[in-house]
Amino acid sequence: MRIKNLILFVGLFFAACSPVTPVQPMLTEFDEAKKLNKRPLNVILMIGDGMGLTQITAGLYSNGNKLNLERFPVVGLHKSYSSSDLVTDSAAGATAFSCGVKTYNGAVGLDKDAGSVTTILEEAEEKGLATGMVSSSSITHATPASFIAHVRSRDQYEDIAADFMKTDIDLFIGGGRQYFERRKTDDRNLWQELEARNYQVSALAKEDLDKVVLDFSKNFAFFTAEGEPLPAASGRDYLPVASRLAPVFLNQRSGGKGFFLMIEGAQIDWGGHANDSRYIISEMLDFDKAVGAVLDFAEEDGNTLVIVTADHEAGGYAIMLGSSMDSIVPGFTTKGHTATLIPVFAYGPGSELFGGMYENTAIYRKMRAALNF
Ligand code: MG
Ligand code: ZN
Repeated sequence: MRIKNLILFVGLFFAACSPVTPVQPMLTEFDEAKKLNKRPLNVILMIGDGMGLTQITAGLYSNGNKLNLERFPVVGLHKSYSSSDLVTDSAAGATAFSCGVKTYNGAVGLDKDAGSVTTILEEAEEKGLATGMVSSSSITHATPASFIAHVRSRDQYEDIAADFMKTDIDLFIGGGRQYFERRKTDDRNLWQELEARNYQVSALAKEDLDKVVLDFSKNFAFFTAEGEPLPAASGRDYLPVASRLAPVFLNQRSGGKGFFLMIEGAQIDWGGHANDSRYIISEMLDFDKAVGAVLDFAEEDGNTLVIVTADHEAGGYAIMLGSSMDSIVPGFTTKGHTATLIPVFAYGPGSELFGGMYENTAIYRKMRAALNF
């Protein structure tokens, strides 16, 4: 057989053996991003922990049939499963967004073999963007932790707080002051360390967040509770305030180089765990106010990509027969999480990348592609 014929034969053989190989290779997020008319300077990722479609629906109808989430032009769905379980936890769920890897439940900023993975926040910082995080839980809780820390188990709160010292995050607002200031595993005082590292540090007991005079020449750390902040229904009101303040602050700090900000509505999930429909709805509406504040900034700014999603659903929550718009009759199937598909909302330059159905890890790649990392 001549060599030319051999090549032809081998080529035909492989073509015949692989009928499912697509003729056109699938476009990656990076190829898709090349076609964008405009790329964002800033990315704000908002995570409603435990916010499935029913949580959104109950919030919507309880709020006179309107939500800020309706302002988003692009909606997609993600598959939330982790490497260890079809039903993810918040650590693996957030690590999928922050690192682009499926990992085991409980892992923070690590892959499934417990190897450390650089997060999108750390990468943004390396590239000279300003960075920030806001949460209505402690700032060391699984969701924010997964953007800044690398630990085997989500309950290593003091180790997670110490990992904040390895970064130069420009702003963080949330509970968990005790893990910085009254540590049991060592005698470091991380409040003092933050001040020594050019942070303006304050706490809710000392002043209201909306009365703070910001010093734009410094980073900003604000503790909203010793441990976990109160539910919104018990008077916690800083999440929308922080969501209005943070983009303005980071925009200033970045000097036009762009910023990455993660904002979490943490307690929608806790309402699900408690099988408490009123808790879910009040947290959902508090988070939606935060979404409204962020959208107002993004509409005015024009260079900001806003993504709103959840890590997973919680409670197996349902709206039952007999419900009305002002009276939701709830059903629950679990005190834990569920594996239902999760909605993704996107607004601004790069939002086109977020339509369709994809893995939770694709959200990481889409954000990086939009930012041209
Ligand atoms: Mg969380
Ligand atoms: Zn949960």
